[in-house]
Amino acid sequence: MKGLFGFGKKENKPEGNVDKTFLNTKKWLVQYDRKGCIGAGSCEAVNPERWKLLDERKAELKGGELNQQNNMYEVRIGDDELAKMKAAAEGCPKVVIHIINTETGEKII
Ligand code: SF4
Repeated sequence: MKGLFGFGKKENKPEGNVDKTFLNTKKWLVQYDRKGCIGAGSCEAVNPERWKLLDERKAELKGGELNQQNNMYEVRIGDDELAKMKAAAEGCPKVVIHIINTETGEKII
Protein backbone atom coordinates (compact mmCIF):
# COMPACT_ATOMS: atom_id res chain seq x y z
CA MET A 1 0.00 0.00 0.00
CA LYS A 2 1.27 3.46 -0.89
CA GLY A 3 1.49 6.01 1.89
CA LEU A 4 0.02 9.46 1.78
CA PHE A 5 1.65 11.84 -0.72
CA GLY A 6 3.51 8.96 -2.33
CA PHE A 7 5.76 8.20 0.65
CA GLY A 8 6.77 4.61 0.73
CA LYS A 9 6.47 4.34 -3.03
CA LYS A 10 9.04 1.93 -4.40
CA GLU A 11 11.17 2.95 -7.35
CA ASN A 12 11.31 0.51 -10.20
CA LYS A 13 14.95 0.15 -11.07
CA PRO A 14 16.63 -2.75 -12.81
CA GLU A 15 19.07 -4.76 -10.66
CA GLY A 16 22.54 -3.23 -10.58
CA ASN A 17 21.43 0.05 -12.09
CA VAL A 18 23.29 2.51 -9.86
CA ASP A 19 21.90 6.01 -9.77
CA LYS A 20 24.91 7.99 -11.05
CA THR A 21 23.14 11.28 -10.52
CA PHE A 22 23.95 11.11 -6.84
CA LEU A 23 27.52 9.92 -7.36
CA ASN A 24 28.27 12.79 -9.73
CA THR A 25 26.85 15.53 -7.57
CA LYS A 26 30.24 16.65 -6.31
CA LYS A 27 32.34 15.89 -9.35
CA TRP A 28 33.90 19.31 -9.78
CA LEU A 29 36.48 20.88 -7.49
CA VAL A 30 36.53 24.67 -7.50
CA GLN A 31 39.73 26.33 -6.36
CA TYR A 32 39.89 30.02 -5.64
CA ASP A 33 43.14 31.87 -5.05
CA ARG A 34 41.84 34.72 -2.92
CA LYS A 35 45.21 36.52 -2.74
CA GLY A 36 45.00 37.40 -6.42
CA CYS A 37 41.44 38.69 -6.32
CA ILE A 38 41.10 42.39 -7.12
CA GLY A 39 37.41 42.63 -6.29
CA ALA A 40 36.21 43.22 -9.82
CA GLY A 41 32.96 41.49 -8.93
CA SER A 42 32.14 39.81 -12.23
CA CYS A 43 31.99 36.45 -10.46
CA GLU A 44 29.18 37.68 -8.25
CA ALA A 45 27.39 39.22 -11.22
CA VAL A 46 27.14 35.88 -13.05
CA ASN A 47 26.97 33.48 -10.08
CA PRO A 48 25.63 35.21 -6.96
CA GLU A 49 24.67 31.84 -5.47
CA ARG A 50 28.37 31.08 -4.99
CA TRP A 51 30.16 34.44 -5.04
CA LYS A 52 29.82 37.52 -2.90
CA LEU A 53 31.89 40.66 -3.02
CA LEU A 54 33.00 41.68 0.46
CA ASP A 55 33.73 45.15 1.83
CA GLU A 56 37.48 44.62 1.60
CA ARG A 57 37.16 44.25 -2.19
CA LYS A 58 37.72 40.54 -2.14
CA ALA A 59 35.24 37.94 -3.26
CA GLU A 60 34.01 35.21 -0.98
CA LEU A 61 33.44 31.74 -2.38
CA LYS A 62 30.27 30.71 -0.57
CA GLY A 63 30.69 27.28 0.99
CA GLY A 64 34.42 27.33 0.29
CA GLU A 65 36.95 26.19 2.86
CA LEU A 66 40.60 27.15 3.03
CA ASN A 67 42.91 24.32 2.09
CA GLN A 68 46.00 25.00 4.22
CA GLN A 69 48.22 22.98 1.88
CA ASN A 70 47.73 25.08 -1.22
CA ASN A 71 46.23 28.20 0.37
CA MET A 72 43.20 28.02 -1.93
CA TYR A 73 39.57 28.20 -0.97
CA GLU A 74 37.89 25.06 -2.25
CA VAL A 75 34.41 23.68 -2.71
CA ARG A 76 33.01 20.70 -4.56
CA ILE A 77 30.07 21.29 -6.88
CA GLY A 78 27.87 19.11 -9.06
CA ASP A 79 27.07 19.23 -12.75
CA ASP A 80 24.08 21.40 -11.95
CA GLU A 81 26.33 24.29 -10.92
CA LEU A 82 29.05 23.85 -13.49
CA ALA A 83 27.81 26.25 -16.18
CA LYS A 84 27.48 29.19 -13.80
CA MET A 85 30.76 28.47 -12.07
CA LYS A 86 32.47 28.24 -15.46
CA ALA A 87 31.02 31.60 -16.42
CA ALA A 88 32.37 33.09 -13.19
CA ALA A 89 35.80 31.58 -13.78
CA GLU A 90 35.96 32.65 -17.43
CA GLY A 91 34.91 36.18 -16.56
CA CYS A 92 37.44 36.63 -13.78
CA PRO A 93 40.02 39.17 -15.00
CA LYS A 94 42.70 37.75 -12.70
CA VAL A 95 42.04 34.08 -13.52
CA VAL A 96 41.98 33.13 -9.85
CA ILE A 97 39.07 30.70 -10.15
CA HIS A 98 39.85 27.19 -11.35
CA ILE A 99 37.72 24.12 -11.91
CA ILE A 100 39.03 20.56 -11.83
CA ASN A 101 37.26 17.39 -12.90
CA THR A 102 37.95 15.12 -9.92
CA GLU A 103 37.23 12.00 -11.96
CA THR A 104 39.89 12.65 -14.58
CA GLY A 105 42.13 15.19 -12.84
CA GLU A 106 41.69 17.55 -15.78
CA LYS A 107 41.77 21.25 -14.97
CA ILE A 108 39.17 22.71 -17.30
CA ILE A 109 39.89 26.31 -16.30
S1 SF4 B 1 35.93 38.05 -10.76
FE1 SF4 B 1 37.92 37.32 -9.95
S2 SF4 B 1 39.02 39.17 -9.35
FE2 SF4 B 1 36.88 39.71 -9.61
S3 SF4 B 1 35.99 39.54 -7.57
FE3 SF4 B 1 35.65 37.61 -8.59
S4 SF4 B 1 37.40 36.35 -8.02
FE4 SF4 B 1 37.93 38.46 -7.56
